[in-house]
Amino acid sequence: MAKVSINIATGSIQKEEIIVGIDLGTTNSLVAFINPEGNPQVINDAGKGLLVPSVVHFNPDGSVVVGNEAKQFLISDPQNTIFSVKRLLGRSYHDIENYKDFFSYKVIDDNSESLVKIKVGDKFFTPIELSSLILKELKERAEHALKTPVNRAVITVPAYFNDSQRQATRDAGKLAGLDVLRIVNEPTAASLAYGIGLNPEEEKTIAVYDLGGGTFDVSILKIQNGIFEVLATNGNTFLGGDDFDRAIVNYWVEQNNLTDHASDASLQQALRLKAEEAKKALSTQNLYNDQVADIPCAITRQMFESLIAPKVEETILACKNALTDAGLSPADIDEVVMVGGSTRTPLVKHKVSEFFGKAVHDKINPDEVVALGAAIQADILAGNRKDILLLDVTPLSLGIETMGGLMDVIIPRNSKVPTKAGRQYTTSVDGQVNMKISVFQGERDLVKENRKLAEFDLKGIPAMPAGLPKVDINFLLNADGILTIQAIELRSGVKQEVEVKPTYGLTDQEVEKMLFDSITHAKDDVAHRMIIEARTEGEQMVYTAERFLEKNGAYLSVQEIADSQKFIQDLKEVLNSGDKDLIHKKIDELNEFTRPFAERVMDQAIAQAMKGKTI
Ligand code: AMP
Repeated sequence: MAKVSINIATGSIQKEEIIVGIDLGTTNSLVAFINPEGNPQVINDAGKGLLVPSVVHFNPDGSVVVGNEAKQFLISDPQNTIFSVKRLLGRSYHDIENYKDFFSYKVIDDNSESLVKIKVGDKFFTPIELSSLILKELKERAEHALKTPVNRAVITVPAYFNDSQRQATRDAGKLAGLDVLRIVNEPTAASLAYGIGLNPEEEKTIAVYDLGGGTFDVSILKIQNGIFEVLATNGNTFLGGDDFDRAIVNYWVEQNNLTDHASDASLQQALRLKAEEAKKALSTQNLYNDQVADIPCAITRQMFESLIAPKVEETILACKNALTDAGLSPADIDEVVMVGGSTRTPLVKHKVSEFFGKAVHDKINPDEVVALGAAIQADILAGNRKDILLLDVTPLSLGIETMGGLMDVIIPRNSKVPTKAGRQYTTSVDGQVNMKISVFQGERDLVKENRKLAEFDLKGIPAMPAGLPKVDINFLLNADGILTIQAIELRSGVKQEVEVKPTYGLTDQEVEKMLFDSITHAKDDVAHRMIIEARTEGEQMVYTAERFLEKNGAYLSVQEIADSQKFIQDLKEVLNSGDKDLIHKKIDELNEFTRPFAERVMDQAIAQAMKGKTI
């Protein structure tokens, strides 16, 4: 199938373009490429360092800085400094509710299943937009260092990322002006960096242990015919080197009887930094001895190891659980790959190696290994590795139309064939009994710019309130390039299926043109998409709020109803303004105003239901 690369500047097809590999991390991000000697290398732009902290700071004048420069504002200007945005990418408020206090900036609670937004000043940002700022910085650094335009990239994500998180990562790349050739699992990239999985004959089961600053995960992968399959993942998204630092701080606090350090933010920060320094030193020496503002700060490696032992044990338990889920035992694992800065701690290496009963791969810098592997994957996709057979891939994305005429990609372009993927949808109107399913092919955000492949109705959905039906849409693309689209409503079992051949009547020139158009229009497309998404969300909000007032008017005062209607009217008036920030602002205001009512109605309804009942 077609594989083309395009020079954006000239529109011509070009073979020798640099495709970068990007590790978009929770704490730090990196960009790597294959150097002229043929080796993967992390890009260091004019000595700015290899790691770009994944931090974005908004200056009062609205300008933005990313990386080390932004990191300085974490303490002095927390509301306008966004860190750990990867934790929010592709997530709904519902998903992150339990750890919302972790963020020092404002994450909007719109009480819904829609994707979270972040408020900075009076502007609303999606995690996609914020991540795109980090990617843009990486792109610019790469361009500056390599002195060539960089338009195409492979970006890595954790193996446990779901569809929505992967799509959000793709969108962030697109918004940064990058053609995202493929989203690759971080453990897959790390394995590739060690050369594991490059030989198509090789059949192996491997464990990738990734302990970073704030997150831990372990993945069990099976490699067969050059394909990496994730058998199991496990971990803890709030466990990492930061916990080791905290353990040291607590130890010093105890040793020195520091009672009021908690209220002294700058002392706390100084102790934390010193603790990190001590931890790093203890990776190569047995004793650390220094002080912070006359407070003695000493610790032995032995003491450090006893402090962190329970945390390390927790990661070993996660490895055990992952193996159990994969139906394997430690002896079945052929290779163990170490990823993340915290795997430099000798106790961690020792325990992991002891558990799996073999030496671990730790020769490559654990901070860089994922980005280096991503660069190798990019090189493979560029067709530069003659020894590696490129598997058949889908030349264009396949998806369906969702509200507002948007393209929802189900099988992204460059997916290996055969492949299957699916997603769940629901109705938007009460009592809806039919659902029209339109299947499209292409890279543009609006379906009207893409190629329509099929359209059919899923009929006979039992009448239910909006949002209750569960419609699974599955795409199955077989080795002959035939796409089967199946829609099934899970509550009733109503089902419908069609088959098409997406490449039928599609020439290489058309594919090239569609890809070229998608790149040149990427920014406008994403901006347009965000406006449509804001409008759709606003319309849903109006619909829900009006139904709520209709049904529960009895529980509200006349004034409350009138005020609610005013907020609804305000929102309605801006729906077609084309200003997404304004729409989000009005959604937020309506939400803030009506949220207490929902709780009150619930309480009163329960009280009513309980009346006269004895328990
Ligand atoms: P990552 O998120 O993969 O960049 O990992 C960052 C974590 O690795 C932080 O908690 C660092 O303190 C930790 N780290 C970096 N260097 C070392 C070292 N030499 N020994 C132990 N931990 C380290």
